Amino acid sequence: MPTPNEIEIRGLHKSFGDNEVLRGIDLDVAAGEVVCVIGPSGSGKSTLLRCVNLLEEPTRGQVFVGGTEVTDLDVDIDAVRRRIGMVFQQFNLFPHVTVTENLTLPQRRVLGRAKAHAAKVAGENLERVGLADKADAYPAQLSGGQQQRVAIARALAMGPEVMLFDEPTSALDPELVGDVLAVMRMLAAEGMTMMVVTHEMSFAREVADRVVFMDGGRIVEEGPAAQVVGDPQHERTRHFLTRVL
Ligand code: ADP
Ligand code: MG
Repeated sequence: MPTPNEIEIRGLHKSFGDNEVLRGIDLDVAAGEVVCVIGPSGSGKSTLLRCVNLLEEPTRGQVFVGGTEVTDLDVDIDAVRRRIGMVFQQFNLFPHVTVTENLTLPQRRVLGRAKAHAAKVAGENLERVGLADKADAYPAQLSGGQQQRVAIARALAMGPEVMLFDEPTSALDPELVGDVLAVMRMLAAEGMTMMVVTHEMSFAREVADRVVFMDGGRIVEEGPAAQVVGDPQHERTRHFLTRVL
């Protein structure tokens, strides 16, 4: 039996006023697959991710997550979002509470977990990202790379079936990028379904099952990383890669 698709995107369009940002995106992500999305600034990569978890409402088209049409007007948006973890370039931690509380508060508010249960799950996920010793620290006391790993742990603590990453290492000093990529590599190896917008071509080559190159709101080229990054077929892809590699 073929692997079921965890994410299916059909004829997705998104406009902001007159600006048509997504111009018909069709994309499937199989369960356990890692898809890296690359492309120039303004090509619609963030908007694409944000349409998957309905942070943006698509203008037209359909998005399915785990077989549920999230673009169905009757869908319970909160229930959908609980199944999708998202990590942003800016880590968006709650600055005034500890690392542990950053992980427990969403579990308690959104999932209604009891305090002890939430704390246990928080501890397990801090352990996974290698930050168990920072449980009582405040975000400002951590490096950018550590803050991003907390943000990943916070998303994981919600038990998502899909993880969306929007340039998770772009705001980091170069020496801090590796630890964050290592956590993402671990998740990929564990079989997490992931869509990753990134400029880290070495990560894409090493971890992605598939690379998608976007330009002007369309998918220009997609395929295995070795093909899209190593031997691009389209001039626009080649031009983009000469600038980021
Ligand atoms: P990328 O992530 O590839 O850099 P984005 O998806 O962020 O691209 O943006 C694509 C285009 O959509 C840009 O022209 C941007 O200005 C526009 N855009 C994104 N979000 C909004 C918004 N909330 N309101 C208006 N325009 C937006
Ligand atoms: Mg973006």
